[in-house]
Amino acid sequence: MPQTHRDPASLIAACGGRVTRTRTAVLAVLFEAGRPISHDEIGAALDARGVGHDRVTLYRTLDWLVSHELAHKVAGPDRAWRFNAVGDEGHQHAHFHCDQCGRVFCLESLQPAIAATLPTGFRLGRAELSFHGVCPNCHGPLPSATESNRNKIAS
Ligand SMILES: [Zn+2]
Ligand SMILES: [Zn+2]
Repeated sequence: MPQTHRDPASLIAACGGRVTRTRTAVLAVLFEAGRPISHDEIGAALDARGVGHDRVTLYRTLDWLVSHELAHKVAGPDRAWRFNAVGDEGHQHAHFHCDQCGRVFCLESLQPAIAATLPTGFRLGRAELSFHGVCPNCHGPLPSATESNRNKIAS
């Protein structure tokens, strides 16, 4: 199956939204980042693209993208929101918080099977699952993950 190209303008249009330069640029920035980023990082990326914006417009644009499920937000270690484009997997995935660099990662391959374990009568609306630890950028590449696991078990 060919990889579908994520075109911000057509995604926005598909939601019935007005395709504005800011919305298109912000969504493009989020796709490019590939991980949740803060207002400041988004602002800097817009500056780099030469897209004029102010804080209010940026907040409104992000709110719009989140409410139309084109983006989702997750709180960082400083309690400030980080934003990421919603991938094909939807937004019911776990997040990983690195305690060293403070970055947040979307673990889209990790779909918590929470809905299946809920007691009768409960219906899941939204799930948030967070992991804390150290990201690959901070602990450096492992020589061999399986090797070190085996050593741990053996000792
Ligand atoms: Zn890190
Ligand atoms: Zn996420």
